[in-house]
Amino acid sequence: ADGGGGGGGEERILVSVRLRPLNAKEIVKNDTCDWECINDTTIIFKNSIPDRSMFPTAYSFDRVFGCECTTRQVYEEGAKEVALSVVSGINSSIFAYGQTSSGKTFTMTGITEYTVADIYDYIEKHKERAFVLKFSAIEIYNEAVRDLLSTDSTPLRLLDDPERGTVVDKLTEEVLRDWDHLRELLSVCEVVDHLYDVIAAQRQIGETSLNETSSRSHQILRLNFVDLAGSERASQALSAGTRLKEGCHINRSLLTLGTVIRKLSKGRYGHIPYRDSKLTRILQPSLGGNAKTAIICTMSPARSHIEQSRNTLLFASCAK
Ligand code: ADP
Ligand code: MG
Repeated sequence: ADGGGGGGGEERILVSVRLRPLNAKEIVKNDTCDWECINDTTIIFKNSIPDRSMFPTAYSFDRVFGCECTTRQVYEEGAKEVALSVVSGINSSIFAYGQTSSGKTFTMTGITEYTVADIYDYIEKHKERAFVLKFSAIEIYNEAVRDLLSTDSTPLRLLDDPERGTVVDKLTEEVLRDWDHLRELLSVCEVVDHLYDVIAAQRQIGETSLNETSSRSHQILRLNFVDLAGSERASQALSAGTRLKEGCHINRSLLTLGTVIRKLSKGRYGHIPYRDSKLTRILQPSLGGNAKTAIICTMSPARSHIEQSRNTLLFASCAK
């Protein structure tokens, strides 16, 4: 049910799972398809492996999407309500969680485009309100924050602003002209995405209500589209040197996000360790407080990925 009433309400996190089709590489290897969505909410492990009788074979979430589902469907049923609540004054975040090559970026790019198209639609129908849409994009790698819209790769600092909370200092903000402009910006980010493992794309919406007479004329809301680092990074045991450091840092952001989300899913009580990682510090205003969150967990159906798929389902189960 929708919390509705302002502040402190127990807002659930909307959790869904998306299964992608077997890819060419998996088909060539004669990999088998282990998982099946048997209805809108339940995914089952359909093949029995003698040694693996111990783990649960059915998992239920708010919504599950089989490999035949389109990104449009995932958007409509797994993200739209959360994403569009930003126009009614709520900070929203949409996450993609899953191992590398499970479909995070594929899913997130589509969802970002559908969301912005719908927001433009809303703006068109509500001429009485003035909106400014701003786009910025960052990636967090080894706990270093970089601007994906800038060629300068110097890490950006996080500042604690008394009014706005944690802000990324000197982050590029592009005022969105139209939908084509968004496509252009997304492709700039995509190029950089090939170089790095984590990309967190943040869209900011600055809204001015013409009817409002409050002294604070600009209300700034945030809608975050978060394309996380491959979840295998959180469990991988890495060896020495920089690889180890890298693993630890990626661990830090992913593991802290997991802890924060688990705590939030049980209600916003007690200490929530937002400050333990850059990712959760930046996302804090959009996770706690007046916020809505949807998580889409992507997974491969292949037998060869069973361990990671199971980890993803366990993460998803903890978040709901
Ligand atoms: P990730 O971001 O999780 O590493 P990607 O989104 O890059 O994974 O997906 C890996 C590959 O699989 C890409 O070529 C992508 O186009 C393809 N893919 C992912 N999900 C789907 C899907 N649901 N349907 C068809 N192709 C997909
Ligand atoms: Mg990706």
